[in-house]
Amino acid sequence: MAVFDQALIAITLDLEMVRHYPKRGMLEWDYEKGNVDAATKRYAVRAAEVVASQGGVIHYFLVGRALEQADVRWLQHIHSLGHPIGNHTYDHVYLLAQSGPELQYRFRRCPWLVEGRTVLELIEENVRWTSRAFQHRLGFPPAGFRAPGGYSSGLRGRGDLQRLLQYSGFDWVSTVYPRHMTSRPGTRPDKQIVADILRAQQPAQPFHYPSGLVELPMCPVSDVAAFRGQRWRLSWMLEVLEKIVEQALEKKMAFVFLGHPAVLLVEDPDLEILTRLCRWIEREPERARLVTLDELARRYRCALAS
Ligand SMILES: [Zn+2]
Repeated sequence: MAVFDQALIAITLDLEMVRHYPKRGMLEWDYEKGNVDAATKRYAVRAAEVVASQGGVIHYFLVGRALEQADVRWLQHIHSLGHPIGNHTYDHVYLLAQSGPELQYRFRRCPWLVEGRTVLELIEENVRWTSRAFQHRLGFPPAGFRAPGGYSSGLRGRGDLQRLLQYSGFDWVSTVYPRHMTSRPGTRPDKQIVADILRAQQPAQPFHYPSGLVELPMCPVSDVAAFRGQRWRLSWMLEVLEKIVEQALEKKMAFVFLGHPAVLLVEDPDLEILTRLCRWIEREPERARLVTLDELARRYRCALAS
């Protein structure tokens, strides 16, 4: 494992619609992840402005189909504030799928969209379309790649996918989300669960595959796991995040926070998570730095070389 000289913390927000938000039972988003609604865009832009005003940076990832919308100025505004935006596939496809329909709900309902092609061809197309849409609609290329979902073993044992993403222009990806214990829905995480989330930061540290592709995992606990899965209160989430950051400071670890504006606009309307993360890091200028995933990948390579 690479050893950093300080804690490296990244705030990452995935731009897409999320099932059960803004209301429980809303599942139709599964078929149109990229049809980002006005409230989600407003939250994403506010987050960009608030974090930039505190001297910080957010690394966004975008579902490419959102670039079919008429107005993409919100994304240009976010980018103009200095926040990078990466590729999150066109339809939010499951990279470890075994069949075309398994790639995404949309293809289960509309199998004719994927007939006659291999899973790998479909993934390549979904990644390429997104990068092409970035160039056409935004005028800049995507900054890195994040897998929809997140897999406990990432792309280990999948040299084909590693090569596909390297050929698609990426030298780092974010595909790992390690397993961790969860609390019963609506109950405060107890000591054992918090300890397990702290333990799970270890398998969520940057590493590289035999292909040389760098992996920058998403670190527990994500907003989806905390709020949708375990129905935590915001105060419980803030307590757990503070402990994770304390551990990262103490052990000079990476912490990549994963959030979704579509979720946070309901669970954290006043952007407390983002402002606190910025404040905790600001308090420790020597011991911690807020980074983009591009910088985290650079720092990982430097740490390995030294
Ligand atoms: Zn996603």
